[in-house]
Parts: sequence; structure tokens; C-alpha cells
Amino acid sequence: MATKLLLTFAICRLIVTVGLTLDPTELLLLGVDAQLSVDPTDVKAASLDFGLLTGAQLPLAVMHPASSEDVAQLVKAAYGSNFGFTVSARGHGHSINGQAQTANGVVVQMSGSIGGSGVASGRKPPYPRVWPQERFVDVWGGELWIDVLRSTLQHGLAPKSWTDYLYLSVGGTLSNAGISGQAFNHGPQISNVHELDVVTGKGELLTCSEEQNSEMFHAVLGGLGQFGIITRARISLEPAPQRVRWIRVLYSNFSTFTRDQEYLISLHEQPASQKFDYVEGFVIVDEGLINNWRSSFFSPHNPVKISSLEPNGGVLYCLEIAKNYHESTASTIDQEVESLLKKLNFIPASVFTTDMPYVDFLDRVHKAELKLRSKGLWEVPHPWLNLFVPKSKIADFDKGVFKGILGNKTSGPILIYPMNKNKWDHRSSAVTPDEDVFYLVALLRSALDNGEETHSLEYLTNQNRQILRFCDEAGITVKQYLPHYTTHQEWVDHFGNKWDRFYRLKMEFDPRHILASGQQIFTPTNMASWQ
Ligand code: FAD
Repeated sequence: MATKLLLTFAICRLIVTVGLTLDPTELLLLGVDAQLSVDPTDVKAASLDFGLLTGAQLPLAVMHPASSEDVAQLVKAAYGSNFGFTVSARGHGHSINGQAQTANGVVVQMSGSIGGSGVASGRKPPYPRVWPQERFVDVWGGELWIDVLRSTLQHGLAPKSWTDYLYLSVGGTLSNAGISGQAFNHGPQISNVHELDVVTGKGELLTCSEEQNSEMFHAVLGGLGQFGIITRARISLEPAPQRVRWIRVLYSNFSTFTRDQEYLISLHEQPASQKFDYVEGFVIVDEGLINNWRSSFFSPHNPVKISSLEPNGGVLYCLEIAKNYHESTASTIDQEVESLLKKLNFIPASVFTTDMPYVDFLDRVHKAELKLRSKGLWEVPHPWLNLFVPKSKIADFDKGVFKGILGNKTSGPILIYPMNKNKWDHRSSAVTPDEDVFYLVALLRSALDNGEETHSLEYLTNQNRQILRFCDEAGITVKQYLPHYTTHQEWVDHFGNKWDRFYRLKMEFDPRHILASGQQIFTPTNMASWQ
């Protein structure tokens, strides 16, 4: 009874808010009544994201699906209705600029139950199903990567390609790319998927793979949620390592640092014993970071005094590398690491090492999250900027941004690591620079309202604009990762020669522009309150 009331209220609100004469029975016929909620806590939670930049975009209702069919029924209703409403899948809401939000439709909460009422019926999406012989796992599109890992580890297996943080949804990262220090070797997460179940913008449920509906398969990977809602992904697995040797070394010279990073990623075809499994790095421009960055690492016997380094232009660079191993091969790990380190040109006496279980390594950012949460520093605005910078221009970027625009304050970590383009499938929708090697530069800053100008949201947002303008003027053809644009022309430029196909497939699979309108690529059609 309560459920029916909830649904009726949701429908009335949809009709009243959009100002339509939509027949309520259209939505009543969905048959997913236990899943649609207008509980204010649910609605509020679905209107926010990690960025906290956009202001609340209240959806009309939130759906908690338990199956692909639930999602298909909802989208079909939106597609078939005379006036239409938008449908946005939301993973864990870790976008920055409202990409998973919609103010004029229904948010499909794919990851767990958020807010107050949650899943009223007790029905839940399917658990991960591991296929040990075939070495893959089938997971619900809203599954968090941490839960994918937990279930595959029960079979001694694990996915190959990761993000730095595991409390992200499978559908959310596959809609972008999913990158971390393994990408140079295994490619992004979108290069490690065998098959998908997808609900198109017409409400059709399609299975797609390299062999079946292959155009849809490649379009959805990196497709920013534009072509369909991923309800199942089949992800490739490998035997799970048990432990990780995790190492950080310092550089004061940028070209020596990038030469070593590029050398390490060039080893991707070598046998496992002759390469690292993870290559990342970060930039240290900030006094605070200099003091904090090595806190959980063993120091060398005579650690280098950072203050004595007189970093070139006030900036230091930290190479972060890791080697996975199994306890049965522990006897050779020291030797393998030693011989790889010998080939590098970091500052002597700056080798900081730690050793930990594989799971703890993969889940390392969650520890930082808990610390920040305890200090009230997690739920703050995050004006993040992620850029792919071509290798040929990374030195110009260093001069202009790390040693120039940033000054000596960063307000958060700045990651920098290279990737091999040949590990990315050019048929996917993901966009990368046109060079064999390109870098991720991730400016992961938090805005604080503490009276310091350089910490303010306005200051950091302006700085992001300045960085983009600098790149434009200096001819550094960056591509945004997790892109955010507001005009049609910017999106056309972003996709470049992929735009025509992107547009054609949008017209084929989501002709009414119902899906993921929060990306602001296409305007929903036939919506009374739009345009
Ligand atoms: P959401 O923000 O909920 O959704 C993102 C987009 O995908 C939206 O447009 C949404 O409509 C769409 N979408 C969501 N689910 C589906 C689905 N099932 N089917 C179709 N479309 C869907 N990224 C990296 O690559 N590497 C990292 O190391 C990394 N680290 C991060 C660390 C933190 C702390 C944070 C906040 C983000 C990080 N990210 C990283 C970015 C992350 O990949 C994106 O935020 C991504 O969108 C996943 O987040 P989500 O699952 O919460 O998706």
C-alpha cells in the first residue's frame, strides 16, 4: 500500500513538474512500483555528486533497479511516452560536474541503495558470478570495483586493470575508461571487457561484444552513458597476486623523470619478471606535501634531505612503481626490483619502499578517504581537472603549469603518468591524444572555505581555466579525461574525427536523447521545459 502511494506520488510529481498531460497509467504499467522512490532523502542524495560544484539538481524520482528488465521498462516508458522524461544512470555519484544527474527525469541508482527509503521491496541486483575456468566475472553495472575484487578473490582471481580508488561503479568507469598505473600494461578497464548487457535509449535490452552488436559494444565503452545503460559487464581476470612491493623515488629534473617513466612503460611486452606492474607518479610543488608524501613508507638508511635538493623551479617529481608477487616467488622479488631500479636515474638515497597485501595496495585511497572524512575534508567541492597530454608537449606543460601557473600551492595531489596508446582500442568512444604515448595529468584539488584565497573554489576554478587557456595558446593539444563541456562545438572538437560516428550512433540508440543528459552533449527532445 505504502509503495503504491509512493509511486502514485512520483507519477503525479513527474506530470506536475514537467507540466504534461501524461497518462499516469503509462508509468503505473511499468511493473517496477517497489523501485521508484520520491523519498526526499533519496532525491536529494541523487541530486549531488563528489564534485559538489553544480548545486542540487533534484530529479523527479529515483529508481532502485533489481534487474536489467526494471531498467528497460523505465527507459521504454520514457521513450514511448508522448512527452518524454530523461533517465540518468548513477553509479556511485563520483562525477565532478553533474554528469549522472538530471533535473527533469528519473535517476536510476545503479550502485546499492542510497538515501532513506532505499530498496523497499528487498529485491537486489544479481551478485557477481565468477567463471574460474574462463577467467572472467559477470557483474551488475552498478557493482563497485571493491566488491568485484572481493568476489573474484574467493577464486584466487582478480581483474587486471584498475582505478586508484575502488568505490567507483563498473558502469561509471566503463563509461569513461578506468585508468591507473596498470593501464600502460593492460590498457584501461575498457580494454578488459568481453561482453556487456545494455539497455538502449529505446528501452531495448541488448547483449553486445566484439562478435555481437559490436558497434554498440565499442560505442558504449568510453561512451559517457550516451548509448545505453550498462546492466551487466563481463570482465577479464588473471590469477590474483598476493603481495605488492611499492616504491617511491624522487627526481628534481623533469626530463629525467619522464624519460624513466617512458622507459618503464616501454617494457610492456617484456616477461613479468622484467617490468613493473604499476607505473604512476606525482608532482610535489607544495611544502605540505613534501612533508607528508612518504609517511607510510620505510625510509632509506640515510634518507635524502628534501630541503637540500633545491628542486629545479621549486618542483619535485615522485615516480611511483609497484611489483606484484606471490609468496611462492618472494625469494626473487628483491633481485627483480633491484635490477629494474638500476636502470633508473632518480636521486640517490631517495628510495622509499613498502610491502603489503595486494588488496591493501589496491584499496589504498580508501584509507586516505577515511582520514579526510574524519577531518571533514572529504565532502567539500572538488574542482578536478584531468587532462591527457601528448608526450611531445609534456615538457612545455611542465614549464607552463607545474613551474608556472600553479605557484607553490596545489590544494591536492597532482598525478602524472604515461600510457601506451596501442593498449586502447581505437573503436571505443574514449578520446585520447594522437600520439603513441600520452600522459594523464590529474589535478585533484579540494576547495576549502578557510579564508585562504588560494584554497577557494573561485581561485582553483580560475586556475583550471588558465591552464586550459595556456594549453590552447601554447599549441598543447590536450584531451580532457572525464570531460566537461557546455557547448555543442566544444563536444564536436573534443571527439574530433570520432564525432560523426558518435552522433550517428546516438541517433540510432537514443534518438530522443533520454540518457545521461547530465553530460550536456545532447538536448533531450520533446520536453516541455527544455529549450
Ligand atoms: P557516476 O558519477 O555515477 O556516473 C558517471 C557517468 O556514467 C554518468 O554520465 C552516468 O550517467 C554514467 N553511468 C553511470 N553508471 C552507468 C551505467 N551502468 N551505464 C551507463 N552509464 C552509466 N577514474 C579513473 O579512471 N581512475 C582513477 O584512478 C579514478 N580515481 C577516482 C578517485 C576518486 C576519489 C573519485 C571521486 C573519482 C575517481 N575517478 C577515477 C573518476 C571516476 O572514474 C568517475 O567519477 C566515474 O564516473 C565513476 O564514478 P561513478 O561510478 O560514481 O559514476
